[in-house]
Amino acid sequence: MEALKQKILQEGSIRLPDVIKVDSFLNHQIDTAFLDEIGREFYVLFGGENITKIVTIEASGIAIGCAAARHFGVPVVFAKKHENKNMDEDVYQVTIHSFTKNTDYVAKIARRFLDPSDRVLIIDDFLANGEAASGLVRMVRSSGAEVAGVGIVIEKSFQNGGQKLRDQGIRVESLAVIEKIKEDEVIFKD
Ligand code: 5GP
Repeated sequence: MEALKQKILQEGSIRLPDVIKVDSFLNHQIDTAFLDEIGREFYVLFGGENITKIVTIEASGIAIGCAAARHFGVPVVFAKKHENKNMDEDVYQVTIHSFTKNTDYVAKIARRFLDPSDRVLIIDDFLANGEAASGLVRMVRSSGAEVAGVGIVIEKSFQNGGQKLRDQGIRVESLAVIEKIKEDEVIFKD
């Protein structure tokens, strides 16, 4: 997605060695008109897949998931990372290793929000080592629902998450793929 690449080049910054900051439009301050374009792009890619639900993870995935869901006309379910008294007791849960915090956390989805008849599109902001996306795949599959694909805004292909998911036969579509970081520059895959 050309407009996304331009936005990353203009507004993004790099935290060496391998973290990209895009918090002026994607995951802190949010450019909602641009997110709508991102949502439309996911619909162009996965619109033929009979998606019934979008699954993502808090916090950064929520806005993106909602932007996509508006185009698909389906609900969004986000995995919760934080304990709270409101959470159902009957949940699917997985342990995920956090790329940005370098610690493990437990992500949960209430069982009543996933059904074996669902065809799920998993959405997230970044794909690095694939821990978050793989955890969501495991949770969705444990409900009996089908994972129709994984939609990522920014994949860093110099980390192995994309390959791990694709090796499992999962369709992964990323709107921008960063092949490498060279000093203070991101190099995109064509
Ligand atoms: P993974 O689980 O694939 O290793 O990492 C993906 C998760 O870590 C995403 O949910 C995202 O929030 C975070 N993440 C990974 N790499 C980056 C990055 O370069 N920048 C930002 N802002 N978040 C990242």
